[in-house]
Amino acid sequence: MRGVGPKRADALRERGLATLGDALAHLPRRYLDLRRRDSIAALREGLDAVVEGRLEGLTIRARRYGRFRSASRAWIRDAAGARLRVVWFNLPSYAEFPTDEPVLIVGRVAAAPEGGLQIVHPEVHRLAAGETPAIRPIYALPAGVPQRLFGELVAAALRCAPDDRLGAIPAEMRMRENLPGARAAFARLHLPPPDTDFAALADGATAAHHALALDEMFAFQLSLARDRIRSRARAGAALERKADGAAARFLAALPFRPTAAQLKVILEFDGELAATSQMNRLLLGDVGSGKTLIAFWAALRAAEAGWQAAIMAPTELLAEQHFRNFQQIAGGGCGYLSALLTASVAGAERARLLRALERGEIPIVFGTHALIQRSVRLARLGLAVIDEQHRFGVFDRARLLALGAQANVLLMTATPIPRSLALALFRNLDVSILDEMPPGRAPVATRVLREPASGEAYAAMRAEIAAGHRAYCVAPLIEDDEDGGGASVAALAKNLGRELPGARIGTMHGRMRAAEKERVMRDFRDGRLDAIAATTIIEVGIDVPEATVIVVTAAERYGLAQLHQLRGRVGRGGAPGRCFLIASANAGGPALARLETLARSSSGADVAHEDLRLRGPGDLFGSRQSGALALSFATFIRDPAIITRAADLAAEWLARDPKLESEASAGARFAIRKLLNSGFSLGDVG
Ligand code: ADP
Ligand code: MG
Repeated sequence: MRGVGPKRADALRERGLATLGDALAHLPRRYLDLRRRDSIAALREGLDAVVEGRLEGLTIRARRYGRFRSASRAWIRDAAGARLRVVWFNLPSYAEFPTDEPVLIVGRVAAAPEGGLQIVHPEVHRLAAGETPAIRPIYALPAGVPQRLFGELVAAALRCAPDDRLGAIPAEMRMRENLPGARAAFARLHLPPPDTDFAALADGATAAHHALALDEMFAFQLSLARDRIRSRARAGAALERKADGAAARFLAALPFRPTAAQLKVILEFDGELAATSQMNRLLLGDVGSGKTLIAFWAALRAAEAGWQAAIMAPTELLAEQHFRNFQQIAGGGCGYLSALLTASVAGAERARLLRALERGEIPIVFGTHALIQRSVRLARLGLAVIDEQHRFGVFDRARLLALGAQANVLLMTATPIPRSLALALFRNLDVSILDEMPPGRAPVATRVLREPASGEAYAAMRAEIAAGHRAYCVAPLIEDDEDGGGASVAALAKNLGRELPGARIGTMHGRMRAAEKERVMRDFRDGRLDAIAATTIIEVGIDVPEATVIVVTAAERYGLAQLHQLRGRVGRGGAPGRCFLIASANAGGPALARLETLARSSSGADVAHEDLRLRGPGDLFGSRQSGALALSFATFIRDPAIITRAADLAAEWLARDPKLESEASAGARFAIRKLLNSGFSLGDVG
């Protein structure tokens, strides 16, 4: 593309924008309605303005050789007679602006150095020319890539993308179902026509949004269904039962009684593990519902039957925590060796461990991604457990299974999701649900505040830290971007520095290297830090019993289910947990009411239902899952029925073309490949 040199191409690639197809899928972050007219008198700093008027007092100073910066200026005067400064820097010498006709000025309002307001580098549209677009898309782009250039990229993509790469639903099915084609849907979202309902567009609720979501969900369901067929046909390790084996002894020796839900799930697994077919099961259970116990039991069940078990966690800290707990709880009585394999295990120790695993001398191994490196071989893998499975990609699981083709697979997640939806979304798996919390857990006291009345939250952080406890504080963005307004981790850390004098504060976010993140988390766990300012990355964190308070800023930006997960980080030790949800100053009444429902409810299932009712299932695919789940448009799903409909269409199509080899399946094949390449996650094994 003209205008995209190596530097811009790199910047775009870093944001996952490498092809024209990626550009198409990169929908505008927001839109500006150019049919709107703002009065100059009502403008405020930081807002986008659309002002109609005439340019006056234009002085163009073109850039001259040797001059650092030359400013050209004018006024825009609106119908009410008010005027506003507009400024351009370093214009080329041929620059011209129309001064004797009505124009539309579009840009971000800023404070002028000489006082008052101004717009720097506004767009100028000649109204008489009649070419002003109705709605202007605004994209989230890396620095150095102009909006206009990206718009041209998208327009080119819309022109030249081949039909069989746009849209997974085969054309005849799409027509029967009366769905718009993907090209038309993309066109409506990138270049919204004048008849667009702006509110629906801004809300992600147009027919075009739904069409893209359904199409993507169709591809997703196709791959789930195909996976189901494949895994049903696979033979699995049959783990023989022992009446008085280690697994049974483990349960008997626990310091507490397993909940009825835990026992029910264990019974379910027991039969399945003994059978000759491969187990492929997802265990869904709220944060703190006691999933780990089930994983430990299953691992012992494999060991006593003479097989090996591998338990994989997304972070080194979590793997370490599982390993330590296992040694503590099960170490003495159960008599099976276990080991920990992470990237930190190196040198001779690593070599020794790998040899022992390959010889089958260590029946139970805990670890991270290090478990699925090529150098690792297991003699007899009978059970593979993946904790916090939504953090892993498809190839991770495929590789874990490659360690033992017959291994029974247990995936565990705390994704709060109603049962019916879970069944639709995880069609390739059997689903077990832990729907009961261990007794005696005090709910986390939750308070909703609104900026600027957030003092109470910081006072609570100070008090908890003074009492020797630890605190989390969460912000939605890593860095302030054009829309940020202080909603970033960087801004938060600065603010905490003022609010918590003397406290040791760390920061953590997704763009840090894994080793750095681990270090911060470890410092926090071991008490070298008092507070962490972080993005939602901490939600799958470690159990830090000393953490007693969590403060979430800009809380209205999150789904309830996600806030519930975050809240689950505190109150895990003896001391009760507290959670403060701070809404932004401009958060509306409905947003606050939504947060209040969370303050009233402490059950993940209730929260999930409420979230589904209020926001639709789209949030399940939102920021929390992103990275793991490669669905880009599923966030637009408001109605769970879309998921079921996509599943039905997928089943129908697979019945006609089981291997997806026909010409009509070309789009579906391409879409599935794309999903897999980006490592889609939900429960796809093998
Ligand atoms: P999660 O499902 O979020 O992974 P964990 O397995 O980490 O939850 O369990 C949370 C805590 O509850 C742990 O400290 C665990 O020892 C404890 N626990 C698990 N089951 C029970 C039970 N039946 N009774 C009492 N405490 C339990
Ligand atoms: Mg857990």
